[in-house]
Amino acid sequence: MQAFPHSAYTRDQLYQVFLDWQRSSWQGIQGLRLIEAPEPGPSVGIMAMTHGNEPAGLAALDNLWQHRQQLLAGRVFLMVNNLGAGARYFKEASDLGFTAHFRFVDQDMNRMPEALHCNSYELQRVHELLPVLKQLDRVLDLHSTSAASPPMLIEMDPGQGMLNVASVPVVIRNILPHLRGRALISLCEQAEGDVIECGSHEEPGATSIAQQAAWQLLAQLNMLTDPAHTTQHPRQIYSVYRAVIFPDASYRLRRILHSFEHIPAQTLLAEGDGPPLYTESDSYIIMAPQRLQPVHPGSEFFYLASGPPPAENPFGPQKFKI
Ligand SMILES: [Zn+2]
Repeated sequence: MQAFPHSAYTRDQLYQVFLDWQRSSWQGIQGLRLIEAPEPGPSVGIMAMTHGNEPAGLAALDNLWQHRQQLLAGRVFLMVNNLGAGARYFKEASDLGFTAHFRFVDQDMNRMPEALHCNSYELQRVHELLPVLKQLDRVLDLHSTSAASPPMLIEMDPGQGMLNVASVPVVIRNILPHLRGRALISLCEQAEGDVIECGSHEEPGATSIAQQAAWQLLAQLNMLTDPAHTTQHPRQIYSVYRAVIFPDASYRLRRILHSFEHIPAQTLLAEGDGPPLYTESDSYIIMAPQRLQPVHPGSEFFYLASGPPPAENPFGPQKFKI
């Protein structure tokens, strides 16, 4: 089976890609490149670095740009969203095992308030991007996780056609109602959207997943050829029922948790000055943090989800090497 075109990216190469995009603009909007095909078709946005410490998506932008002559139809906007946080991350992050301080400059760009009137860096950036976001028909936002995790599709709307990526075996359902703010792609108004968590931030495989996801989305839309002739792959679905947000800074987890770890109902998760926190029902841990207390107090620390019976959970800590 012939693979889609892709390459490996070192951190230095990703930094060069970032600098290329930082120097680029489209109609005065920095951090954007547009590919236009000769034939009409949908307008698609491929987004990287909505969070400044998540560089994997840059590989997808660069890969599509390198192969821009192959676009068959439509227009593809290649976007680096949080230029400010990304610049700090590449210049200042020395401990790549802990980069949470470079996630944003002033506020989380993926938790937008209802009213977009505030003078934060991220809201200014969103205002720059809005004219493009509003014209997109489809959008893919490429993220990564702090802890080791299999790649995950974060489902935005169960009613839309599901993005089918061969190496993404997990679907996280129903997370939107549990976010403290609107996901950035919710601002796209008329676009169907997907978020892919490509793996952990610094894992080389995450850049490969990002390239594959972007290519396969465009292939599904008949905007690129699909050399892999992708067929539907089996997936495991986990449905979020709660975001765990610590009430105040006194709370600590009792121990480090692992993504897709199964926790029985009524298990003590965390203690602090107020009431202890328990699991309401049998739960899977989604987007496990690597620490006992959140770096950003008041944000979602991790999520609890229902899922397959534990015996059929393919991603438990014992089965998924972390
Ligand atoms: Zn992210």
